[in-house]
Amino acid sequence: MPTLLCVPILVHDEAAAMADALAARDAGADLVEFRIDEFFTGSTDSASGELDDAQVKTVLRLVAGSPLPCIVTCRSATESGGVGGYGDDEMARVSLYERLGTAASVSDTRSHAPGSGELKEHPPRYLDFEYAAYTRSANIRQKISLGVTHPAQVRRDVTTGLILSTHDFDSRPVDLTRRVLKMQQEPAASVVKFAFRARSLRDNLEVFDLLQDNRERGEKPMIGLAMGEFGLMSRVLAPKFGGFLTFASLRKASTTAPGQPTVRELIDLYRFRSIKPATKVYGVIGSPAAVAHSLSPLVHNAGFEAIGWDGVYLPLPIAADDSSDENTYLSFKATLDALLDHEGLGLAGASVTMPFKEALCRWASWDTHAEGSANTLLVHTSWDVDSHCHVDRVLTRNTDSSAVRALLDAALGHLSGKTVGVVGAGGVARAAVWACASRGANVCIFNRRPERAQALADRYNQKLHRGDQGRVSVEPLDALRAARADAVINCTSLGMRGGKNEQGHSTASDLAAPVAEMLALPEHCVFFDTVYNPVDTPMLRAARERGFRTIDGVSMFVEQAAAQFTLWTGQPAPKALFERICREALSVEK
Ligand code: NAP
Repeated sequence: MPTLLCVPILVHDEAAAMADALAARDAGADLVEFRIDEFFTGSTDSASGELDDAQVKTVLRLVAGSPLPCIVTCRSATESGGVGGYGDDEMARVSLYERLGTAASVSDTRSHAPGSGELKEHPPRYLDFEYAAYTRSANIRQKISLGVTHPAQVRRDVTTGLILSTHDFDSRPVDLTRRVLKMQQEPAASVVKFAFRARSLRDNLEVFDLLQDNRERGEKPMIGLAMGEFGLMSRVLAPKFGGFLTFASLRKASTTAPGQPTVRELIDLYRFRSIKPATKVYGVIGSPAAVAHSLSPLVHNAGFEAIGWDGVYLPLPIAADDSSDENTYLSFKATLDALLDHEGLGLAGASVTMPFKEALCRWASWDTHAEGSANTLLVHTSWDVDSHCHVDRVLTRNTDSSAVRALLDAALGHLSGKTVGVVGAGGVARAAVWACASRGANVCIFNRRPERAQALADRYNQKLHRGDQGRVSVEPLDALRAARADAVINCTSLGMRGGKNEQGHSTASDLAAPVAEMLALPEHCVFFDTVYNPVDTPMLRAARERGFRTIDGVSMFVEQAAAQFTLWTGQPAPKALFERICREALSVEK
């Protein structure tokens, strides 16, 4: 059975909730969850002790009028993670569930909305109740069970199933597996749900193991989700592991759990409906901040769609330790090893970005490339008869280098014998220096901290042995104007959005000196800015005004992404599509 897509709706107002349910249907959801914990107050009539009839009727009208099958949840405050949460009389909540579950046995008709005709009330498709509350007393257990199994219920087309659920907004519960088994064994439960905050990507793998095991044993349907920025993977890949449903919000701001994607992101970006057990998984591995702003999921998923490739590309964040390169490497290694070892995941490739490019090279020491950093992982896998994935071979590549080379070759004819100035001495500079010098260009590095530039030059000069390869030298930043360069590449973060001041731009004084240096270059010079956000950087604008030919950072991004795409799929990348997606995405960024 395909994994369902469910939109949670926090109910405050009947009309707004119904409008959201309609919008969820139109956006492509299969199910809605009416979260009534902020709406239902648990108040009862003082004389009869009955539940507030107006509130109950409102919920019943929502259920009856919902354009999609629905779950009704009055989430206990102890398991709401601070979003909504019911903290009033527990027995009133239990009575509400009983009343909702047996709604079909009530024969009177209710008005759906003013002027919209009469609707028979009927029960929701599912009621969600927490396992911890369910097991608190025999009385609660009996009442909730009755709500979904009452023999007197007259149900023509709708039966109500109980989702027994458990949530931990802090971390993975130590007794998760035992809890899940116990929920499975509850006769009244028709679906078992667990959700917990992922502390790392590896926590998703545990979710996948439980789902996969559940599917193989043919147990009751299961919903397993990891929450938070590290848990997106579990939400998107639920169909791969037989998850019963995944939650997605209508709008970015309306998520009921951290890390929840929107419906449109799931359907359009991640192609949720086409994900199957054998779908190959790719992603961008980087710090949480780096992957959150990456354009790679946009371009690669669109590329897979364009060529009909059975793959999905995800953000894969790994927390780095700013104070220790060794710890950063160790968490990268532990995560990548775990992802590759997982038999059901099928990790087939990854882009690797800040701050793990050097870590990838170290990890893949058997596959050493002279660049000293790599940005691409290519995994050859095979599947056995039990649908378990095995890694046959892992390769690393640096497509930043091949992108710089391709763009400069196109602009200068051929790099051999040319002089290239590289401004900066970080990760991108490393790729640019190697790209040019290994093709016969003489490269001069200009960097704010000259010692960093010298270390880079020494490293590469040791590797550049062949007569047709160039040499690497170092000059202070203010000597750039004197360089007789055929091309200058800005490999610093100068001009990058979100870089320096409150407006997100490098300050004028940061830029003034390098721009002045650059403007004094000879007119035939090609100016190449690797910064791509904003597309039109201050340096590119100045260079164009000076009459230089320019290459922008988007061209480099597209070129390196296209090279990765071809490595993974063996097919040419739809570069024009990549380019359009990047420029559109960057034009709307604030
Ligand atoms: P990195 O390793 O942190 O290196 C940053 C470099 O910028 C260092 O050399 C640093 O000099 C220099 N720098 C920073 N602030 C400066 C300032 N105020 N004045 C002078 N120099 C300054 O970063 P990276 O990974 O190489 O990335 C650099 C840029 O490349 C990023 O902004 C990113 O936008 C761009 N990029 C583009 C692509 C693409 O596909 N187009 C791909 C990746 C990255 P020190 O050594 O003196 O600190």
